[in-house]
Amino acid sequence: MPVTDNTSASRQHQHDVLIIGSGAAGLSLALHLPAHYRIALISKADLKQGSTYWAQGGMAAVLHTRDTIDSHVEDTLNAGDGLCHRDAVEFTVRNSRRCVEWLVRQGVDFDLREDRVDNSGPEFHLTMEGGHSHRRIIHAADATGRAISEVLIEKAQAAENIEIFTHRVAVDLITAQGHCQGAYILDRQTDHVELFQARAVVLATGGASKV
Ligand SMILES: Cc1cc2nc3c(=O)[nH]c(=O)nc-3n(C[C@H](O)[C@H](O)[C@H](O)COP(=O)(O)OP(=O)(O)OC[C@H]3O[C@@H](n4cnc5c(N)ncnc54)[C@H](O)[C@@H]3O)c2cc1C
Repeated sequence: MPVTDNTSASRQHQHDVLIIGSGAAGLSLALHLPAHYRIALISKADLKQGSTYWAQGGMAAVLHTRDTIDSHVEDTLNAGDGLCHRDAVEFTVRNSRRCVEWLVRQGVDFDLREDRVDNSGPEFHLTMEGGHSHRRIIHAADATGRAISEVLIEKAQAAENIEIFTHRVAVDLITAQGHCQGAYILDRQTDHVELFQARAVVLATGGASKV
């Protein structure tokens, strides 16, 4: 059912999918969705603000031949000290290699080992961080988030089906009949609230400190 705009929304937008948040989560989702979906991607500042861009050390993933998914899961649950949901941890860890491989295919330039003596091909340089029992931190020098962001932003900007709206703050969700059908979004530059309607709405606004 179409949503009637009975507020002061000065502009209306209609998309298939509304993604609120332009960090690694929002950008990755936008790039994974089928190209025939019209997507609105919302960022509350410019695309280079936010945790993803500033993340430094790297991402944990099961990449080393001696590492295992079980080991990474147990390390995460131990470090989480009761805050983690095992199913979420298992899902994340199980998919970690696949995510890294996808990022590499997009063009993210992670550091490689320079000390390889055989000819078995390039191998990621993995560092060890607190709480981990194996080397599993893949990184791009000490600016991993920037390396990931820049690649994903460039891809999203080039995608014809992704419309990017910066300096927009989601202030309220629109729900009807138990479904989220859009959001009211403040354009910080004009100070106007705009109506964004979509068949699916995704909150990728960060702050997911518990898994
Ligand atoms: C300094 C720093 C260093 C870090 N280092 C590491 C590290 O080495 N390794 C690691 O794994 N993690 C690290 N992290 C954590 C990591 O960056 C985050 O967990 C990850 O980037 C979260 O990605 P995300 O896409 O979920 O959210 P974010 O990157 O935070 O993106 C959230 C998006 O939501 C948008 N948004 C939020 N609220 C609204 C709203 N109301 N309306 C519209 N848009 C909104 C923001 O504009 C932004 O685009 C670090 C974080 C920081 C801050």
